[in-house]
Amino acid sequence: MDCIFCKIVKGEIPSTKVYENDRVLAFKDIHPQAPVHIIVIPKEHIPDAEHINSENASILADIFLAIKEIAKLTGVNESGYRIINNCGKAAGQTVFHLHFHLLGGKSMSDSMV
Ligand code: 5GP
Ligand code: ZN
Repeated sequence: MDCIFCKIVKGEIPSTKVYENDRVLAFKDIHPQAPVHIIVIPKEHIPDAEHINSENASILADIFLAIKEIAKLTGVNESGYRIINNCGKAAGQTVFHLHFHLLGGKSMSDSMV
């Protein structure tokens, strides 16, 4: 499958990993939009949030528990951080492997769009 993030999981494309467990991987975004910009993904290929279902939904708990750890590791747990998921083209999703952006290290704009 021609999926960039699956290739990162398999080690076929290099990344700067910041956190890993059995089901979740997190690495630095290649084009950071904040001092801390981490991509958090399931190791399993799920294209986007529309493909979450009762069979695979437990991955969301793993991802959000990982996000808490990563926030602590990157030093933004106390200052605060933003978690973003783009679902589909109109939302700006460009990589079709479910992922959450963890952004921090600066004051975020009020705008969500
Ligand atoms: P999206 O727009 O789909 O929500 O976010 C995809 C993100 O993945 C973008 O912020 C982009 O910079 C990042 N990205 C795309 N390709 C790579 C890559 O090969 N390595 C890393 N580390 N990040 C990538
Ligand atoms: Zn994938």
